[in-house]
Amino acid sequence: MSTNLILLGAPGAGKGTQAKLLCEKTGIPHVSSGDIFRENFTNNTDLGQQARSYVDAGELVPDDLTIAMIAARLERSDCERGVILDGFPRTADQAAALDAMLATRGAMVNTVIYIEVPEAELLRRLAGRWMCRARGHVYHQEFNPPRQAGRCDLDGSELYQRSDDQAETVAHRIKVYLDQTAPLIEHYRQKGVLLTIDGNRTIEAITADLVEAITV
Ligand code: AMP
Repeated sequence: MSTNLILLGAPGAGKGTQAKLLCEKTGIPHVSSGDIFRENFTNNTDLGQQARSYVDAGELVPDDLTIAMIAARLERSDCERGVILDGFPRTADQAAALDAMLATRGAMVNTVIYIEVPEAELLRRLAGRWMCRARGHVYHQEFNPPRQAGRCDLDGSELYQRSDDQAETVAHRIKVYLDQTAPLIEHYRQKGVLLTIDGNRTIEAITADLVEAITV
């Protein structure tokens, strides 16, 4: 049996931070659509070139590109025992495509964890967010600062601010989230797999809840 989890929530809710911690604790691979797009930008691939303008504008990358990218990632052997999805699905069509991908291997979405954070808090978090170049570890200048300014504690790589974390783009990303992704909360609630977690607490408290939720 594989364990397939989705972390759902607005930009800045803490999906990436929590997914990385959960991956360390459980060994289930973390698959972040945003991290994969950013790797493609760094490596200047065709996919990176096709996706760049959407990401920079805070828009969603078209479903066909995004779904093909995730399908290729899920086919890799490390995902056989399950996956922690962060940032995917973001639309109803992506959710349907994910069900179909998992069904081909007799699997399904087991749990969707909605990390709920008030909008004012999201804006504060995104404004001070820093990310590591090598593996996308996430820091915050006030709430989760690195030990050494500008360097990742875990791999020593340089920290940078995402270009789509500027105030205007952030406002647009939250609107896109509310229009296109938030309806998935109800979709998964109706399927009986949704768990809501208060994301307005410390990183450790949230991780503890997540670990409990998936090991019960
Ligand atoms: P994230 O790192 O999850 O905040 O994603 C950064 C950006 O990548 C988003 O604002 C979108 O432009 C793009 N992106 C990430 N995941 C998806 C997805 N599932 N569907 C479409 N676009 C996505």
